[in-house]
Amino acid sequence: MIYRKDNYYDKIKNLTIDNFMVVSDFDRTITTSTSHTTWGVLSNAGILPDQYDFERNSLYNYYRPIELNDTLDDSVKMVAMADWHQKHVDLLKKYRFNQRHIDQIFSIPDVMSFRPGAKEFFEYLDKEKIEVNILSAGVGDFIITFLENNNCLYDNLKIRSNYLNFDRHGVIIGLKGDILHSLNKSSYAIKKNDKKYVVLIGDQLSDVMMVSGYYVDNVIKIAFLPHDNVNQLESFRDVFDMVLTDDESFSVIVNDLKQVIGS
Ligand SMILES: [Mg+2]
Repeated sequence: MIYRKDNYYDKIKNLTIDNFMVVSDFDRTITTSTSHTTWGVLSNAGILPDQYDFERNSLYNYYRPIELNDTLDDSVKMVAMADWHQKHVDLLKKYRFNQRHIDQIFSIPDVMSFRPGAKEFFEYLDKEKIEVNILSAGVGDFIITFLENNNCLYDNLKIRSNYLNFDRHGVIIGLKGDILHSLNKSSYAIKKNDKKYVVLIGDQLSDVMMVSGYYVDNVIKIAFLPHDNVNQLESFRDVFDMVLTDDESFSVIVNDLKQVIGS
């Protein structure tokens, strides 16, 4: 289903080829809601011992409901999300994840699944030289490898995310910098620049924090509602200008953009 707010077209009709940028989440936005996330690609990959899967799944089963629970206080969720990421990084350290594992993961067919139309979306934005910022609480190294393998690592793309830090033997020693998680994206938000408008795309309510300094009316907010989160449809429809369900394709967005700025 596609739900557009009444004023959706009034908002996008202001866009011209050089007056906006795209700010997008990565996991479950650029990929489908049933795809492995960048933090999840190592599950059942047979690269780390089974005990890793067990411990990683226990973390997921404990923390994912907290991430989705919008009755919890944000401050409580913030701490939980940071703990989740930290514990996962600790697991990778415990099982001596190393740089060579990255190629092994991404040689597995369909280890992550592009949302339909996502490649064409990147192609279109590159062709039109539209700035794209990905702001992801996932793993930047994996995003880059995935996009590179799919010939989508275009020059117009900037990726702000968690990057893994390796020692001189290529073994993980932690993250470079502080943890970026789904609820502290506002601290890493893309600041207002010479672009007057933003097309923001995400799959969580907290993704609206990915930009700062913009008038509400100048941010066109689009969401792909994940399968495991359909009970938040009403909240999504309140917050986002367009909500796409059932793993809808990026072609909806591309077509809307083409209508206003041409092909
Ligand atoms: Mg996401």
